[in-house]
Amino acid sequence: MDTWPIGVFASVDAGLGVAWDVIAELRVPTIQLHAPSPEKRNQESAEAFRAQLNDMGVQCSAVFGGFDGESYADIPTVVRTVGLVPADTRQARLAEMLEISNFAKWLGCDTVALHLGFIPHDPQAEGYSDIVDVTRQLCDHCANHGQFLHLETGQETAEGLLEFIKQVDRENLKINFDPANMILYGTGEPIEALQAVGKHVRSIHCKDGTWSDKPGDTWGAEVPLGKGDVGMENYLRTLQEIGYEGPLTIEREIPQDPERQMAEIGQAIELLTALRAKILG
Ligand code: MG
Repeated sequence: MDTWPIGVFASVDAGLGVAWDVIAELRVPTIQLHAPSPEKRNQESAEAFRAQLNDMGVQCSAVFGGFDGESYADIPTVVRTVGLVPADTRQARLAEMLEISNFAKWLGCDTVALHLGFIPHDPQAEGYSDIVDVTRQLCDHCANHGQFLHLETGQETAEGLLEFIKQVDRENLKINFDPANMILYGTGEPIEALQAVGKHVRSIHCKDGTWSDKPGDTWGAEVPLGKGDVGMENYLRTLQEIGYEGPLTIEREIPQDPERQMAEIGQAIELLTALRAKILG
């Protein structure tokens, strides 16, 4: 595949990404897929999706897990509800992630990804080693399928993420870098963070955002690509610097307004196509 194929985040069900039936309209060669609801995570459905993607000439580069009960309403709610960090839902969600890994295998996809949740910054913190353990279990299951596990960035600083990866100590644990999340969560300058974690980055999001006036306490705002504080040209040049050649997956999280979402994704595709030509020549 060419360097930096453009992609979009897509959903089979009503979800965060663009709807399944409009993927073809966007004429992009790759998608990342939000994992479908549990009743569709079987071999038969996966093979049917795989055939449809083949017909569209689209490759699925990652399947993202997400869970019932997660809420991104505000930062404290994310801490309480998101990913494998909350202890009371951890085992049930691990079981779901293993299912999602199986689904991805049937789909022909070598990457599973998720927001792990707010990992404590200090490896000595209570509960840290349990989060390391559950991540190892998931990594090992993925490794049996020849898959990578990608952690979505945002909730950790670059340093915190590097420490966590070191602690988990699994070769198939990688990063899905999202520059806007660093800004939205107030966890650091995205370009510096990308340089710091670069060697672990195996997939990325193209998303933009503006800083909150109280970074880390309240959300920044997600905005159309190119309109925020990431600096898309600088972002792509930094991706080139770290040797990243994979898909540029556009994420625009306004599923409540599909028309606007499609229009803005169309503009994002134009922007990335122009920047890619400028940078790669
Ligand atoms: Mg993202």
